[in-house]
Amino acid sequence: MKQLSGKVAIVTGASSGIGFETAKLFAREGAKVVVTARRDRELDYLVAEIERTGGEAIALAGDIREESLASALVDLAMSRFGGLDVAFNNAGSTGKSTSVADMDARDWADAIDTNLTSAFYGAKYQIPAMVKRGGGSIIFTSTFVGNTAAFPGMGAYAAAKAGLIGLMQVIAVEYGANAIRANALLPGGTDTPLGRAFSNTPETLAFVEGLHALKRLAQPEEIARSALYLASDASSFTTGTCLLADGGISVNRT
Ligand code: NAP
Repeated sequence: MKQLSGKVAIVTGASSGIGFETAKLFAREGAKVVVTARRDRELDYLVAEIERTGGEAIALAGDIREESLASALVDLAMSRFGGLDVAFNNAGSTGKSTSVADMDARDWADAIDTNLTSAFYGAKYQIPAMVKRGGGSIIFTSTFVGNTAAFPGMGAYAAAKAGLIGLMQVIAVEYGANAIRANALLPGGTDTPLGRAFSNTPETLAFVEGLHALKRLAQPEEIARSALYLASDASSFTTGTCLLADGGISVNRT
C-alpha cells in the first residue's frame, strides 16, 4: 500500500536537492504533487520524471518571497487535484554570509523573507484548504544551524530557521482540533548545492562530514524519507515537534 495514496501535496524548493527528491518520493507513494521554485526548466524536468514513472505532478514557477505564489499554489492544488493534504514548505537559502555587526539590513530581510516569511505565506493559504479537507500535514524545513549548533556568518539564516519552529508550534495548537498536524524537519549537512557550498574542497568536506556522528553528509533521498514520515499517517499522532534527521550533529562531540 502506498503511503500517500489519494493525497495531494505541495512541495516548495522542488527544483533541486531535498525538495526535488521529496517530490519524486511523494509521487512514488501515490501523491499528486504541485511543485514550485524559481527555475522552471528544472521543474519541467521534475514533472516529466514523475510522469515517466506513472505519477502526477504540475509545476508553477515563482519566487517564494511573494505572497501571491502561496495562494496560487493552493488554488492550483484545489483546481487541478481537488484539495490539499500535505505541504512541504522546504524552499530556503543561507543568503549572504556576514557577521552580525557587519550585516546589511537588506541581507537580513532577504534571509527572513526567503526562509521564514515564505513559510508564513504558505501556511496562511494551506491551512484553510486543509480545514476544508478535514485535516492535513504541514512540514517546514528548518536546520540544525541555530538549533543545536551555531556557525559564524549565519545569523540571519539561523534566526529565520529558528523562527520556523515557533511558527510550527503555534500552528500545531491553533489547528490541531482541525486534524492539521504541523512539524519541522531539521536535516543535518546534506549533499545538495546548498550543502556543498560549505564543503566545496576536500578539506571543508572532511570537516563538515566529521561534525556528524555518522561521519558523512546525508543524501537528499534520506531527508526525503523523513519528510514522507511526517507527511504520511505513519506520524498520525506527531505534531508540534522537530524531527532531527541530522546524522547526530546535535550530539556529536568527537
Ligand atoms: P538546494 O538544493 O539549494 O535547494 C534549495 C531550493 O530552494 C531550490 O529548489 C531553490 O529553487 C529554492 N529556493 C531558494 N530561494 C528561493 C526563492 N526565493 N523562491 C523560490 N524558491 C527558492 O538546497 P537543499 O539543501 O535541498 O535545501 C532545501 C532546504 O533544506 C532549505 O530550506 C535548506 O535551508 C534546508 N537545509 C539544508 C541543509 C543542507 O546541508 N543541504 C541542511 C539543513 C537544512 P530555485 O533556486 O529554483 O528558486
